[in-house]
Amino acid sequence: FKSRLPAPDSGDELADLGQSFNTLLDRQQRAYEQQRRFAGDAAHELRTPLTVLLGQMDVALRRPRTAEEYADTLGVLRDEANELQQIVESLLFLARTSEDATLPGSESIELAEWLPRYMERWQNDPRRGDLQLEVQLPPNATVSAPPALLNRLLDNLISNAAKYSAPGTPITVTATGSADAAAISVADQGRGISPEDQATVFEPFFRSKSARDAGIAGTGLGLAIASRIVAALGGRLECHSELSRGSTFTLTLPTRLSQPPQQPRLNEPP
Ligand code: ADP
Repeated sequence: FKSRLPAPDSGDELADLGQSFNTLLDRQQRAYEQQRRFAGDAAHELRTPLTVLLGQMDVALRRPRTAEEYADTLGVLRDEANELQQIVESLLFLARTSEDATLPGSESIELAEWLPRYMERWQNDPRRGDLQLEVQLPPNATVSAPPALLNRLLDNLISNAAKYSAPGTPITVTATGSADAAAISVADQGRGISPEDQATVFEPFFRSKSARDAGIAGTGLGLAIASRIVAALGGRLECHSELSRGSTFTLTLPTRLSQPPQQPRLNEPP
């Protein structure tokens, strides 16, 4: 990266070529730095649960314990191992799914029919609070997506809305759209995100200082994964938020109108 070409401003083709070369180098350097930061952040996030695991094991091995004490320690070890597993799976997902990936297992999903069924997943979830769904979509507006990833995308947005709001406050999922695009938004009335944090909220490992200070658990990978899924589906994910008032995350996806079922006409041979 130290081999930038001197850029003579003579305006000839050679100078243009030198400029393009330098632009490419700059881009590559930024990508390299991003990768380096990603690896460092990943190692840092993995180190915390690992340190707890090792510490707990050392304590348990230092002197004989009762069966009950061993059971308690095993419980802590399992929680930390679960967290490690979650981080590793999220990292693998980000490593395997590029923004222009073709997502295997895509199906045609009619949103107006799928969304109420999806919301049933939250029916018995203690985090759900006052969760409402409003759908104003053409009944046959269809997105092409793997259902499991659409689930994961909305799960991430709704669980964040619940996590960063006071228990029981309203969370509203709204779906609106036309023949060629649908917008699904998840709005909460929680702690909100400052304007400067909104600029970085989709970057892997980003967590706002207020979320960390409040001791709210998280890895900072949920929104990075959500925005990667949306990009691979050809859509976009946006955040509008006001501190102490709440946040709205809106995902816009391309849709097609599926054919309405043909009604057989009377007097027509079958
Ligand atoms: P995690 O929730 O695991 O920290 P995310 O990637 O899902 O990771 O979110 C990144 C950060 O964005 C969170 O740590 C939090 O600071 C902020 N954030 C995300 N969703 C919301 C929300 N609905 N309200 C307030 N802050 C949010």
